[in-house]
Amino acid sequence: MSNTVLLMKSNEMEKVKAHYIKFKVERSAPGVIFAAKLADTAITMYKSGKVMFQGNGAERESSLWGTSSTKTTSTSVAKGDILPPNFSTLSVLGSDETGTGDYFGPITVAACFVSSEQVELVKELGVKDSKMLTDDVMRKMAPDLMATLTHSVLVLKNEKYNDIQSRGSSQGKIKALMHNQALKHVLTKMGAEKPAYILIDQFAERGIYYNHIKTEKEIIRENVLFSTKAEQIHVSVAAASIIARYAFLIEMDRLTEIAGTTIPKGASAKVDEIAAKIYVKHGEEFLKSITKWHFANTQKAIKLVNKRRF
Ligand code: MN
Repeated sequence: MSNTVLLMKSNEMEKVKAHYIKFKVERSAPGVIFAAKLADTAITMYKSGKVMFQGNGAERESSLWGTSSTKTTSTSVAKGDILPPNFSTLSVLGSDETGTGDYFGPITVAACFVSSEQVELVKELGVKDSKMLTDDVMRKMAPDLMATLTHSVLVLKNEKYNDIQSRGSSQGKIKALMHNQALKHVLTKMGAEKPAYILIDQFAERGIYYNHIKTEKEIIRENVLFSTKAEQIHVSVAAASIIARYAFLIEMDRLTEIAGTTIPKGASAKVDEIAAKIYVKHGEEFLKSITKWHFANTQKAIKLVNKRRF
């Protein structure tokens, strides 16, 4: 069975909707904005802009739309370690991080254990590839996951991040230290129970990862596997990703509260403008205390302030 995902702009999505409207079906899954079913192809459209074609006719149908979009196949092989067969059904401790590309707010890392007996339950709770879920859905799901699963979540707030970063640590090193620490915490909580494997959503190759943490007292090495797209490979990583995102959003709420303005995600020109406004209203030290100060956004925001655009 073939499976193709296209990333589309909203005007393209409208065309696809119109084309398949006669075959529309109701799908209430999180993030789904439209679904249709042909005799040999299921079409699912997500809020994120992803449109999935599944079934024997997937190639044929997606090729109608594929030229103007970025085409990826979700069956493409993730990079990283070769995983044992039936990996998705095993007891796995997974870890993932978020916030690394956002100018405002923390880096958060979560590690989460899902035993083989819990895999189905976790799926029941709605856990899937977090890139298919919206922030609002993740906010609702995370508390249940946190109550159900043995986990650890670390929030590296901006002041500490800026301090560590300015003393020469790369983001890669910061992330590696946080993953190692979160994994260590969960293993401690698990006591005698051991995961079959540990799966880290790969942000650096194994050698680089371990080089980053080589001076740590306790280094988690046993049964550790690395893979990109790990949240699609085992629900423990997907759950970790949702918990990390939740912690990130909660901290963003706090920053919104103290800044008195909605703090945006990402690192776009809109972010520069908000940063400039905050700089004018609360000063440089305050802005620094809620951002990843070394990002290019800082200089762009200061330029905006100097141009008196506000
Ligand atoms: Mn990741």
